[in-house]
Amino acid sequence: MNAHTIAWLVYHHPAMPSDVLLLYDEAMLAHDPHPDHPERPDRLRAVRDALQQQPVPGTRWGVGPPAEREAIARVHSAAHIDRIESLRGQTAALDVDTAVSPGSVQAAHLAAGAAIDAVTAVVDGRAARAFALVRPPGHHAEHNRAMGFCLFNNIAIAAAHARAKLGCERILIVDWDVHHGNGTQQAFYRDSNVLFFSTHQSPFYPGTGAVDETGADDGIGYTVNVPLPPGLGDAAYRAIFAQLLIPIADSFAPDLVLVSAGFDSHRNDPIGGMMVTEQGFASLCAVVRDIADRHANGRLALILEGGYDLAALAGSVRACVEILAGSAARPPNDRCDPRSDTVVDLVRRVHAGTWPL
Ligand SMILES: [Zn+2]
Repeated sequence: MNAHTIAWLVYHHPAMPSDVLLLYDEAMLAHDPHPDHPERPDRLRAVRDALQQQPVPGTRWGVGPPAEREAIARVHSAAHIDRIESLRGQTAALDVDTAVSPGSVQAAHLAAGAAIDAVTAVVDGRAARAFALVRPPGHHAEHNRAMGFCLFNNIAIAAAHARAKLGCERILIVDWDVHHGNGTQQAFYRDSNVLFFSTHQSPFYPGTGAVDETGADDGIGYTVNVPLPPGLGDAAYRAIFAQLLIPIADSFAPDLVLVSAGFDSHRNDPIGGMMVTEQGFASLCAVVRDIADRHANGRLALILEGGYDLAALAGSVRACVEILAGSAARPPNDRCDPRSDTVVDLVRRVHAGTWPL
């Protein structure tokens, strides 16, 4: 697909307001790791306020049930689930940057439950598209450990549920958080039914996500890592999505599309080193929306991950919700950083045997 075709898709997507389900639960504010912790309750308050004070037409609110143990156990070990359960009502540190407060375990069950409800809603037709506005985030949580602010891997649990219970056969997970989704990669590393595509700053926490981590056994080629030098902005991300994600997704032909929607790749984020703007996230969201429309009967769910500047987070979530509701994306304002070409070439070389790149 050439640049002209991409531009056409961006500008001429029909502007039809969609029924967008926003999943949120006040009880997720009770996860309060530490007063100075960047992953703080005000993040979700800021997102909620941005979407409630001036509602995006076509959106409505819902509350999902907490995830059941059976659903969590598709991704996490019994030992990990037992350890998290044992912390209900307590304050504890799980690693140097992951901690729980008395409300955290309930919040973690609600976050995973909202992710499950988001995929269920878009698969059974209860909503056209969905955004699970959750915390704690999930994509660092591994089979047997909490990590990087994450207790349970919400998006992996939702994808595994969609495979086991909703009849989904091929699931695309796009992760544009500034950090590599190591837990999600691990969950589906040997699985050719779940394609994991991640853009992330490198070198950076958590240290995984090298381009040659491509999967194992039947899953070889179904993990696509796009490690990025710091400083890339809207145009570079857009070019990477156009040149890598679109051809891979069009070949894979998912029947469900999920996004680990982290906004710590925003230019104002205090943790990440990227230069993406609200408009840039909207543009990326439009790409995945159009992939879902082409292949998955529109079935698309976003799951909130990181994002630590309150205004940037709230504005970026809102920009994506507008895209979910049918708005057209605007083209990037910045010049494309030529370093993105180097990244694209590298990923092409590694994945050319599997995908039409
Ligand atoms: Zn992150």
